[in-house]
Order: sequence, then C-alpha cells, then structure tokens
Amino acid sequence: MRFDLITIFPQFFSGPLEHGIVRRAREAGLIDVHVQDLRAFTRDRHRTVDDRPFGGGEGMVMKPEPVFEAVESLLGHDVGDAAQRRPEAPGTAIVLMSAAGKLFDQPTARRYAAFARIVFICGRYEGVDERVAQHLATEEISIGDFVLSGGELPAALIMDAVTRLLPGALGNEASAQNESFSEILCNSSSGQYQPSINRILLDFPQYTRPAEFRGWTVPEALMGGNHAEVAKWRRAAALEKTRRNRPDLLKT
Ligand code: SAH
Repeated sequence: MRFDLITIFPQFFSGPLEHGIVRRAREAGLIDVHVQDLRAFTRDRHRTVDDRPFGGGEGMVMKPEPVFEAVESLLGHDVGDAAQRRPEAPGTAIVLMSAAGKLFDQPTARRYAAFARIVFICGRYEGVDERVAQHLATEEISIGDFVLSGGELPAALIMDAVTRLLPGALGNEASAQNESFSEILCNSSSGQYQPSINRILLDFPQYTRPAEFRGWTVPEALMGGNHAEVAKWRRAAALEKTRRNRPDLLKT
C-alpha cells in the first residue's frame, strides 16, 4: 500500500515513520511512504502556499493551485473534478485533513486498509481553500472534535491505524481482532451465545507480572489457567470498562 503525504513540513514525518510497527511495515515493503513538499509546486520566488481570505478575517488560507498540482503530479494525470467520483477500493483515496471533516474511526481505518493508495493533504494556517475539499479530495476527514495546528499529526495517526490492519503488519495476527473497537459477538451474562447482539467494546484490562504490585493484586480469574474463566472475566471487564469510559458505545 502506498501513502503520499503532502505537507509544508516534510521533516515532520521522520519521527512517526521511524518507529515500531510502521517502521517494520516499511522495511518489509508492506507500505511505501512518500512525503511531498507542497512548496515544490509554487511558482513565485517566495514559494507562497497561502493567501488572505476572501471576505476578510484572521489568518491565512492555503491556496488551491499548489495543492491541485501536487496531487496531479503524484498521480501522473489531471484529476478533473473529484465531486464526480467516489473511489472504490482498491483505488486511490485523496484525503483532506480537516477539523470540519467526517470523523475518523476504526471502521474507516478498515475501509482505508483495502485501498492501494492514499494521498493525504495536510492543512496549516486557517485551513485550505474550499475548492480542495469540493473538487480534489475524495474525502474530508477529522480525527476528533478539537482543533490542531496542522494536518500532519492527523495524517500520521491515520497512517498508523491503517498500517497495523494490513496483513503481516502485526507480529501476532490475532491481536488486531481482539482489541478495542473490534466487533464482538456479545455473550449474555448467562454465558449464552447471542449472535444477534453485535457490539463494539473497548479492550479488556491487561495485566502482567508481578502478580502483586504495591499491594494491588491481579484478578483471581486470570491466574488459574482456566480459559473459560479468563474469557468470561475479560468479557465482563471489557463491558464494565466500556460502560465507565465510553457509555455512548453501548447505546443502541
Ligand atoms: N480553521 C479551521 C482549523 C484550521 S487548523 C477550523 O476551524 O476548522 C489547520 C489545519 O490543521 C487544518 O487545515 C487541518 O488540516 C488540520 N487539522 C486541525 N484539526 C484537525 C482535526 N481535528 N482533524 C484533522 N485535521 C485537523
């Protein structure tokens, strides 16, 4: 899978790309990451990527021309009008990072993992000329209800979430199936299998050695080696944690 990152801060990604699963996925050839300096697509002496907003107001807005040209140069052809098409996997998604976008979540990460290529457009300043959202990007995505100073962290975050879903990216293949936001077929409290209740739970609490730390002990159920007992405890603990930290996930 190929990721392209269009940014005015190409150096920004050296950290996120150099560690852990993302680094290993690059080394193994599972992902191919290209960082594109937006300023390479400016034509003036000052390499200007921003301008004042029409209608007045604070701050600067990123100009459309360099962004369109950067994407077209990466794809090797004119993009026409993205409003006319919605790419299906395995194609190329052009994702504009935006606090005003649709919320990114685990189902979106799974959908992205099926694409052959994702081009991320990282905004700065007060944001990006709306024609990029309307006619170039195939999606406008936010990573949460807060405002950051740039799209680089959000793009790195999405790249991380998508990469770890690619077959072979995680050391232990099972671990992507059993974590927060994976779909779980809920058993009822009686232990009865109820395939009709499809819920998304947070991960269950994990413990490792020592069995007693500063007087706090590991729950009994995890210590005895009884797999059924462990599974039951984990399900109940995951449900309890979801209820406590994210009750919104349990509302149907
Ligand atoms: N004026 C804009 C915020 C601009 S922040 C607004 O109020 O919506 C500058 C850039 O940071 C944005 O163009 C976007 O690329 C990025 N950014 C900020 N918050 C983000 C978020 N929650 N998700 C994704 N990108 C974000």
